[in-house]
Amino acid sequence: MEQLQDKSLVKQSSYIDGQWQQGNGAIDIINPANDDCIAQVANAGIEQAEQAIAAAKQAFPAWAKKSAGERAQLMRKWFDLMMSHQQDLGRILTLEQGKPLAEAKGEIAYGASFIEWFAEEGKRIYGDVIPSPAADKRIMVLKQPIGVVAAITPWNFPNAMIARKAAAALAAGCTFVVRPATQTPLSALAMAELADRAGIPAGVFNVVVGDDAKGIGKVLTQHPDVAKFTFTGSTQTGKALIEQCATTVKKVSMELGGNAPFIVFDDADIDAAVQGAIASKYRNAGQTCVCTNRIFVQQSVVEEFTAKYVEQVGKLKVGNGLDEGVDIGPLITQEALSGVTKLVEDSVAQGAKVVLGGRTLDMGKNFYAPTVMTGVKNTMPIAESEIFGPVSPIISFTDENEVIAMANDTDVGLAAYFYSRDIGRIWRVAEGLEYGMVGINEGLISNAAAPFGGVKQSGNGREGSKYGLDDYLEIKYLCLGGLDK
Ligand code: NAP
Repeated sequence: MEQLQDKSLVKQSSYIDGQWQQGNGAIDIINPANDDCIAQVANAGIEQAEQAIAAAKQAFPAWAKKSAGERAQLMRKWFDLMMSHQQDLGRILTLEQGKPLAEAKGEIAYGASFIEWFAEEGKRIYGDVIPSPAADKRIMVLKQPIGVVAAITPWNFPNAMIARKAAAALAAGCTFVVRPATQTPLSALAMAELADRAGIPAGVFNVVVGDDAKGIGKVLTQHPDVAKFTFTGSTQTGKALIEQCATTVKKVSMELGGNAPFIVFDDADIDAAVQGAIASKYRNAGQTCVCTNRIFVQQSVVEEFTAKYVEQVGKLKVGNGLDEGVDIGPLITQEALSGVTKLVEDSVAQGAKVVLGGRTLDMGKNFYAPTVMTGVKNTMPIAESEIFGPVSPIISFTDENEVIAMANDTDVGLAAYFYSRDIGRIWRVAEGLEYGMVGINEGLISNAAAPFGGVKQSGNGREGSKYGLDDYLEIKYLCLGGLDK
């Protein structure tokens, strides 16, 4: 923290109605790389969550009334401030979350890109005039901001998961209350500080930091003044929150867990597939919802792929994310580490083989070695669960239909990837995969222009792209009658 150029980006309490508000007691923010307490943040609760909703409700009419261009100017300032503080924001993110600094700075740019994108996209919220079946009537459609939006976000992208939601909400004319994950509130509060400096009016963007996830979650999902609830996190928590939202029939969008297949066909460029798999697997130490979870390799190339993959994965450097040249940081907590360890051990007990890694590292409490496993079956725990760690299970297959069936044999459907150079196969496989996003000869697919989201139990709604505003808008139909003289 001492090395930050702008230390006033580190805030220690919730941001509600344009004010930094205290709570009851404090939450220790722990650096997962070395267990140091890097800051303390006041612990807000139900009362503060209610205040934030009240502030957002009060701010809504004036914010909604602004022209899209006026909102865009303020959002553009917010974007500029995030980019001019990219180094500090990245450092804060690494300190609380653990990912390597270069990756953390990448997340800041990625998060900011949604603010830039939606500031512009807000100017293109078009209505419609529909040909009427009756001569004396006219049919028109308006799109209007839905109202107060509440959000809950996870620790794995402490900046971008908030930016992706808040940018669309604010551009649509909604006001916003977010509760960030308990482990990583500093990035959220730094965003609030910059929103404040950008001149975003009080009550439009609120951050409530508190460790009572259930209590605050109930307020955000059940409060009658919240019109829309948006969540990114695990499928299990998402299901409970959808149920809670039913009590007031809120519009809901969910970005939940994944179990991404990464398929390598025998006609693929194997070297490119190795690079793509590493990029999509080991980012954020394997702790992303779109991380490759199962690598399927066609029998005839499995030996070549595995040898090249193991060689490259073996070169990845693990360490404190602030150290030069580090590719993989710690896992977020010791529970996360135990979870990964158990998945590997249970799968080894069922016959899988560890060919690289497969152990914790003695450099702090939360480090796990980049791992590659072979002889894995699609029914083993390491293939059936969302790993959220730096482990690559390799499963061999014989033909296209078999691998599509194996890839789809899961309740979730967020991202999938495959490598092939056969154009017919590319279409068949892309259409056959039951996933919201498919990377074809590409391991990194997210950006502000593209619709991010899943099918099946990976959730509903899309973030980013021209579709991302839909979740924050209501369609209003106007029927103008009595036109005949
Ligand atoms: P999680 O346990 O569901 O937590 C996510 C957020 O929900 C945190 O802020 C957490 O608060 C809060 N929370 C937990 N239980 C709650 C409850 N009963 N009521 C209200 N809030 C509650 O998920 P996670 O393990 O931290 O995050 C990883 C998951 O997120 C993975 O499954 C990953 O795939 C998914 N994810 C999905 C996307 C996507 O776009 N589809 C993106 C990123 C991550 P606390 O911090 O206090 O626990």
